[in-house]
Amino acid sequence: MRQKLEYDYIVTGGGCAGLSFILHALNEPALQNKRILLIEMEDKSKNDRTWCFWEKSVGLFESVVCKQWDAAWFHAPGYSSLKKLHPYSYKMIRGIDFYNHCHEIIRSSGRVTIRREQVMSIHNINEGVSVVTDKGMYTADFTFNSILFAPPLLQNNYYLLQHFKGWVIETEEPHFDIGKATLMDFRVSQQAGTTFVYVMPLTETKALIEFTLFTNEQLEDAAYDAGLKDYITTFLGIKTYRIIEEEFGIIPMTDFDFPRYDEQIINIGTAGGQTKPSSGYTFRFIQKHSADLVQKLKTTGKPYLKPGVFKRRFMWYDKVLLHMLHYNKMPGARIFSLMFKRNKIGRIFRFLDNETTILNELVLLNTLPQFPFMKAGFKELMK
Ligand SMILES: Cc1cc2nc3c(=O)[nH]c(=O)nc-3n(C[C@H](O)[C@H](O)[C@H](O)COP(=O)(O)OP(=O)(O)OC[C@H]3O[C@@H](n4cnc5c(N)ncnc54)[C@H](O)[C@@H]3O)c2cc1C
Repeated sequence: MRQKLEYDYIVTGGGCAGLSFILHALNEPALQNKRILLIEMEDKSKNDRTWCFWEKSVGLFESVVCKQWDAAWFHAPGYSSLKKLHPYSYKMIRGIDFYNHCHEIIRSSGRVTIRREQVMSIHNINEGVSVVTDKGMYTADFTFNSILFAPPLLQNNYYLLQHFKGWVIETEEPHFDIGKATLMDFRVSQQAGTTFVYVMPLTETKALIEFTLFTNEQLEDAAYDAGLKDYITTFLGIKTYRIIEEEFGIIPMTDFDFPRYDEQIINIGTAGGQTKPSSGYTFRFIQKHSADLVQKLKTTGKPYLKPGVFKRRFMWYDKVLLHMLHYNKMPGARIFSLMFKRNKIGRIFRFLDNETTILNELVLLNTLPQFPFMKAGFKELMK
């Protein structure tokens, strides 16, 4: 007879993906008697990131959405447009609110054990997994792992970085229109590569401003500060302000095919390939993935999702865009300007969500310069 393991599920890493998976699982009555262990090495008491994403409906984390916008600006040299986002809203969640909310629900459920330990390794064992930490060893039927153990760098893959520094600034006088965010502003210098700024107004006197690049390498810290200062004075026309919060982040933009699972080890979050290679957006993909995993566990008892063959085409589109940026075939500012100028925002959001039909994709791709894209697309197919 098969030996009973300590837990049904061990969740390794309690950041966005680990906590999202647990909340989706706690919400599912069919998984009510599952024994869950969460292993996370940090106390998650810092506001270490802000998530922005678009959504049509009310999401599982609606109660911690701190701000949402129904209209957003897109700016590039010679082109500015205010986009009505309906039926989408652009939403913002502060990391600390998300962590506190998840921990409160987990605590009150009484169904999850939390250990503040460092995971050293994860192994498949006979019909289960064992997770080794700095303090002990635990076994379960499955591990849902969001710890990014360094992936092997393959020569054929692109490894661009989306890197950004953000400031929440406060002004004495009202400066911001709270109903309108700025999704992308490419009017800034493109000397270091694809560079843009986004602005998320929180009140009339407070906004999060992020200076962002899609390039191969990080900048010196002073260069992000200079970019932010210059944007605030030149484009927002603000002379005096106070920086009340700072954030720095790097999101991998890679077509590396992160393994989705290895026997009983199921990878989730960035480690499970849920970061969109061409945009860095991850939050919504994590939510969809968590919901799909829970649905699969409910119906089959196993968390194995088969990626649809037709969905693989989105990876090819991502590769083509990374190819264009990596080889500098066309400035990112031009690609995104054409996309935003010639397409409705709903089509762009659906495309970036991997949810368009092939017909929609043909329409969208037709709005981009065909020769360089076709050439890049062909090279990626041949790789
Ligand atoms: C600053 C920043 C801003 C971002 N903004 C957005 C955004 O606006 N929209 C969007 O869609 N995406 C955004 N992303 C990308 C993505 O959504 C986040 O990175 C998201 O947190 C990824 O979730 P994850 O669970 O994969 O990783 P994480 O949230 O980083 O969680 C991994 C967890 O594992 C823990 N851990 C690591 N190693 C170990 C170990 N050995 N033992 C135990 N625990 C360990 C970490 O402490 C962490 O809590 C942002 C990323 C960053 C860094």
